[in-house]
Order: sequence, then C-alpha cells, then structure tokens
Amino acid sequence: MSDFVNEPFPIVGAGPAGLACAIVLARAGRRVVVYERRKRPGGRFHNDFQGIENWSTENNILEELAHAGIDDTFDHAPVRAGIAFDAWGTVHAVKSEEPLYYLVRRGDETGSLDQGLLGQARALGVEVRFEEKFERIGDPAILAIGPRTADVIAVGYVFETDKSDGNWICFDDKLAPLGYAYLLISGGRGTVASCMFTGFKNQRLFLQRTIKFFEAHAGLKMTNPRPFGGYGNMHLPRTAVQGGKLVIGEQAGFQDSLAGFGMTFALRSGILAARSVVDSLDYTKLWRTEILPLLHTSVANRYVFNLAGKWGRRWALSRISRSDARKTLHRLYHPWWLSRGVLPVALRRYRAPLKDKSCDHVNCRCVWCEHGLMERTKYEESYA
Ligand SMILES: Cc1cc2nc3c(=O)[nH]c(=O)nc-3n(C[C@H](O)[C@H](O)[C@H](O)COP(=O)(O)OP(=O)(O)OC[C@H]3O[C@@H](n4cnc5c(N)ncnc54)[C@H](O)[C@@H]3O)c2cc1C
Repeated sequence: MSDFVNEPFPIVGAGPAGLACAIVLARAGRRVVVYERRKRPGGRFHNDFQGIENWSTENNILEELAHAGIDDTFDHAPVRAGIAFDAWGTVHAVKSEEPLYYLVRRGDETGSLDQGLLGQARALGVEVRFEEKFERIGDPAILAIGPRTADVIAVGYVFETDKSDGNWICFDDKLAPLGYAYLLISGGRGTVASCMFTGFKNQRLFLQRTIKFFEAHAGLKMTNPRPFGGYGNMHLPRTAVQGGKLVIGEQAGFQDSLAGFGMTFALRSGILAARSVVDSLDYTKLWRTEILPLLHTSVANRYVFNLAGKWGRRWALSRISRSDARKTLHRLYHPWWLSRGVLPVALRRYRAPLKDKSCDHVNCRCVWCEHGLMERTKYEESYA
C-alpha cells in the first residue's frame, strides 16, 4: 500500500462496503475520496426495506460496527419475531430474544442506511464525488462497485399502508423459485417482493402470486404501490485483490449464497480492507480467515436448501420455530456437521448461474442471463 498518507485514498463505489471502508479510514486520520457513478447515494435501491442480519455475529451487529467506528446514524428497527410460511401455507411463528435483524431502508431518502453512512463519512471529512464512474484507476485504491452479474433477483413493490408493523416470509417455489417471498411493514410503509434464484423470466407471474398470497395470508393492502427490482451477484472468490487493488463487498463475491444477506459481508469487508490499509495487514489473510468460512457455509447451505425441497424446508422451519431463531440461524451460518459434510460436493457443483436455464431468450428482457446483459441499463432505467 501507498506510503503517501497525505494523498486522498480512492474508493470506487459508495455502497455500504465503500462507505464503511471510508469511515474507518477517515477515523484513522486518512484522507479519502469516494467515487460514485450515480447521482445519489443508494441510487441502486428504491427506499425498500432490507434487513441487516444479526445472527452471523456472536455479538450484536450494531455493536460490532460501533466497535469498528461506524455509528448507527440511520433509521433501524430491531426485529425479534415474525411469521414464516411453508409451501402449504402453514404458519411457523419465529421469535428470538435478541434482534434477529435490523430493518433498514436502502436508497436516497433521509434516514436510509445509505444516507446515514454518507452523512457520517462526510462529517469525518470524506469527499464523495457523485456521477464519477471509474473504469480504470491507479494504485492504491479500493474497489466496491457492487454486483456485476445477476445470480439472484428480487422484484416487488414499495408502498404505504395503515397495517401495523410486521414481517412475513414464505418459502414456496410457486412464489419465489428456490428463494423466498417477503413482506415487511414498519411505520406505515411496506415492501413486498419475490426473491428468486431461478425462473427469472417469469418474474411478473411470481410477483403476482406473491401479492395474492400475502393479501390472503397477511392482510396485505397497498396504497400508492411503486414497482422496484434489483439483483445480486454470488460467486466464490479465489482472490479479492485485482491488479493490486483491494476488492470489497459484492464486487468481490462476498454474498450469502443461501439467502442474499450481503450487507453484513459488505460492511465487514469494508472494515477489514480499511484495517489492512491502516495497520499494513495482509487483506487476503484477513478475508480468508474472517469471511471465507462463512461463504463456504452459505454455499453448502444453499446446496442443502435446493436438495431439501418443500418437505425439507418445512421440517427446517418447524425446527427454527421451536427454538430461539437467532441462535439456530447462528449455528446454521457457521460451519456445522452437515455443511462440512456436503461442502466438497457443493463446491464442485457450485458455479454462478450466469445463464438462467429457465430463459428461452425469446422476447427476453432479462438482466441475468448472458443474452440479456446488454439489456441491463434499460432494465435499471425502467425502475429508476
Ligand atoms: C432488492 C434487494 C434486496 C436485498 N435485501 C437484502 C437484505 O434484506 N439484507 C441484506 O443483507 N442484503 C440484501 N440485499 C443485498 C445487499 O443490498 C447488497 O449485498 C449490498 O448492497 C452490497 O453492498 P456493496 O457496497 O458491495 O454494493 P452496492 O450496495 O451495490 O454499492 C455499490 C455502489 O457502487 C456504485 N458503482 C457501480 N459501478 C461504479 C463505477 N464504475 N464507478 C463508481 N461507482 C460505481 C453503484 O452505483 C453503487 O452505489 C438485497 C439486494 C437487493 C437487490
């Protein structure tokens, strides 16, 4: 890394990974400049609700962030209970003593995670330049530009509602193939979506079914619904250094292959990269020790999830609902006997599904398959 500590340290991408990294570097006295290609922070998102999971850490995730110097300067609601449905529509009430996750908003609104991190970074003197896109940048630099392909997508609506707060999730391939449908409501606002790992071409059908399901099973009523969509990228990285630059967040492939909870990985990898710069530590060693085992477990869990089918998922839900869900998920998200056992096979079979086999490429508007790559901009624009 550079000895020129007075040169502003460049970070490309103002998502949670890039901003977390910028905050930690700035707290250590480094000058930082963040380049963001969009006009606004969180421009990839639509002020939809997302959850910062609180089960993969031993301690509370917000405390972990505070320990690294990142304050919770964004709206967040702790979630300790919710309703999960299996493919038969059977209710499994899920609860935990400690928060399972923190509900946050992603996008450009005041109070969103993105605005909160941006404000914090700026208060520490970080310069953030919007509408600056970098294809090439010299060393040293940190790359944090988010997903590059779509291996998983979520499509849904954000809306207003007078329904009281709650959260519902349904594991049914008819609503979200190999994924889950979710409904999140807090403070008169809501997000409903189908998060699918395949079958992308029929996204509209899956979304319609999702809406119908939650209308019938959770009393969903939307006021002023606005469509949104997004995608995530999953691949197991061999390296997180590109041409001498450290790569963090989803750009590095740091994603949860089981369920797409990528924010914790983004924040953590940003912190690790900053620590490696400030304390001259080996970033490769850091992420391989602190992130790779969790990535491996998520790949193994995804393999088991796919194999388990609706019966297996129903069994798992009933186990989770009879326990403290945070504790059970914590065990599940760390190497456990089944994940260790299936890992060699799961890794051999694992490859990012860059080409969705369920797409026939006829009238294709996909952003996920190779055929649709050039369509991505159109897709993003249609949801802007
Ligand atoms: C609909 C949806 C729901 C999700 N729900 C959850 C959830 O509930 N929980 C969870 O943990 N995760 C969730 N995720 C995943 C999570 O949002 C991502 O894993 C996380 O945002 C990754 O952070 P990042 O900083 O790596 O990338 P990003 O958040 O994508 O940030 C990257 C930034 O880089 C910018 N950029 C791109 N290219 C360039 C360039 N060339 N030059 C400059 N800037 C550039 C982008 O505009 C963007 O602002 C969800 C994702 C989606 C799409």
